Amino acid sequence: MRIHAIQTGRVQIKQAQIEGRGHGLWRQIQPIVSSEWAEWAPVYAWAIEHAEGVIVVDTGSATHVKSLPRLHPYFQLAVRFEIEPEQEVGPQLRRLGIGERDVKTVVLTHLHIDHDGGLAHFPYSRIFADSGEIARAAGVRGALLGYLPRRWPSWFDPQPLSWQPSRYGPFGRSVRLTAAGDVIAVPTSGHTPDHLSVIVRDGEEQIMLAGDASYLESTMLRGAIDGVGADEAAQEQTLADIRALCAARPTVYLPTHDPQSSERLAGRRTVAA
Ligand SMILES: [Zn+2]
Repeated sequence: MRIHAIQTGRVQIKQAQIEGRGHGLWRQIQPIVSSEWAEWAPVYAWAIEHAEGVIVVDTGSATHVKSLPRLHPYFQLAVRFEIEPEQEVGPQLRRLGIGERDVKTVVLTHLHIDHDGGLAHFPYSRIFADSGEIARAAGVRGALLGYLPRRWPSWFDPQPLSWQPSRYGPFGRSVRLTAAGDVIAVPTSGHTPDHLSVIVRDGEEQIMLAGDASYLESTMLRGAIDGVGADEAAQEQTLADIRALCAARPTVYLPTHDPQSSERLAGRRTVAA
């Protein structure tokens, strides 16, 4: 199965966001107050060329995030984006020969601005996200939490994923996104409470499109949680679940912002291989 890593520009965040420092509210404030910026990181969207139609996982960043609400401290102090119009997901898909009507399904790992930024390119797709994530991101409360619901396309009306009680490896719930059962969503709570990841089964391997379950493969392997998720125990459990998944079957692990993700996908380099 062909999977494309589509880099929609770059993002720069603080080191204390990639790997949390301390605990509780202190940990969550560090990405804002710290002066230690990390290296610029990629922002990936993913396109799966599936026999049942193209599936896009996350829509990446977009040029509108170069200007962010001035009153929000996270936007003003903790994040910077670089992206040009031709780097948005739509134009890049067109260059791959994938038109907007070819994309049957879009799945959002969560609704942070560098994951839902490119929604405008998918007016003909069915779009899925977790119902809790959709509710959290909407309205004034969503805006306070650092989402940008006012920038969603007017037609944006995501369908809540209907989780099934069918276990997938260490994950107690899952959703099959294809009739063939080879593209599966699993809950990866932590970075946001209702964050999800998508697993593609391809022969003996599985490819995990992990969103922001961790920023890096290395932090996942060390069990190092990020600086933004509110629930430390949930993040630790998710990272442990991912390690168990990788131990049970060869897994290519692809976080959205890991500088190695594209190469890892190209070489189908599995965790600890
Ligand atoms: Zn995020």
